[in-house]
Amino acid sequence: MEAGRAVGVVADLIDPESGRPRCEMRVRAKATVLAAGAVFTPALLMRQKLAGSSGQLGRNLVVHPGAGTSALFDEDLSAWRGTMQSYYIDEHLDDGVLLEATFPPPGLGYSAGSLPGWGRDKELFRLYPRVASIGSICSDEGERSDPAHREARGAHPLLAVGPRRPPGRRRDSALGGAALRRGATTVYPMLPGLTSISSPHDVERIRSGKWKRSELHVSAYHPMGTARMGTDSFGSVVDPWGAVWDVPGLHVLDASILPSSTHVNPQITIMALAARGAARLADALG
Ligand SMILES: Cc1cc2nc3c(=O)[nH]c(=O)nc-3n(C[C@H](O)[C@H](O)[C@H](O)COP(=O)(O)OP(=O)(O)OC[C@H]3O[C@@H](n4cnc5c(N)ncnc54)[C@H](O)[C@@H]3O)c2cc1C
Repeated sequence: MEAGRAVGVVADLIDPESGRPRCEMRVRAKATVLAAGAVFTPALLMRQKLAGSSGQLGRNLVVHPGAGTSALFDEDLSAWRGTMQSYYIDEHLDDGVLLEATFPPPGLGYSAGSLPGWGRDKELFRLYPRVASIGSICSDEGERSDPAHREARGAHPLLAVGPRRPPGRRRDSALGGAALRRGATTVYPMLPGLTSISSPHDVERIRSGKWKRSELHVSAYHPMGTARMGTDSFGSVVDPWGAVWDVPGLHVLDASILPSSTHVNPQITIMALAARGAARLADALG
């Protein structure tokens, strides 16, 4: 920073062997773009005491909590081959729920994690080629209190979220029933005390079951919103093009500038906003 203006970056180059800083790199620039993601962008700005005048920095974190339903079929499906996110159902988006067929490699996501005994029972791995899974993600907004107050209370300054609205069990029960009707022999609904069901009659147990939020196997995806864009400098951190309102020369172009939940997977929106902001910046710099 020079005279209140961002004039570049100073970075430590880390030695990959030792993990220690090897030397310092300084880049002087007419414009500086920060794109460290919705967690690290506000963290970095907060540490440097920048971009805080609206009081919105680090607030408004949105994540997409998700849970999955997996089903075991008789035949091999090898669901990890081909297009990973092959189908989605947005019929329930008005209720904030998106269903998407996802089958990540084992160890990542719910398809493997939903199998009972996963990680302990290696035999289960043999079933993996016969498993299909679908996830339900919903939008959840972060705590809106001041990050500094949260830190003072001993809480993480940014990551204070908890699903106010857990992913819909009613839909999971419908998915379980549908899978069984389509020939699945077993459905794994990722619910405590109900690791698997194998008859359409059991579907009612998902529908009527009561679980505490803390018992649900929910993982959270797609953090966004922590340096949100807006049309005035009081309610937002950056302008509609990603320029930081109170730091000339500094721009943010990543998931943190999204003003609210995208409700769907955000990557294309993030890339579109970054490309749009970059094109405008390039024009402005001549
Ligand atoms: C496993 C996985 C699967 C996903 N699948 C999908 C999907 O199918 N569809 C979809 O839409 N989204 C998906 N997402 C989400 C998507 O990847 C993110 O929403 C998106 O990448 C966010 O973009 P970003 O530019 O804000 O941040 P990132 O892509 O996270 O980029 C931030 C970069 O900043 C770097 N960085 C952070 N701090 C520092 C620092 N101090 N110094 C230097 N560098 C730093 C990081 O290393 C990183 O390279 C997935 C995410 C994961 C983890």
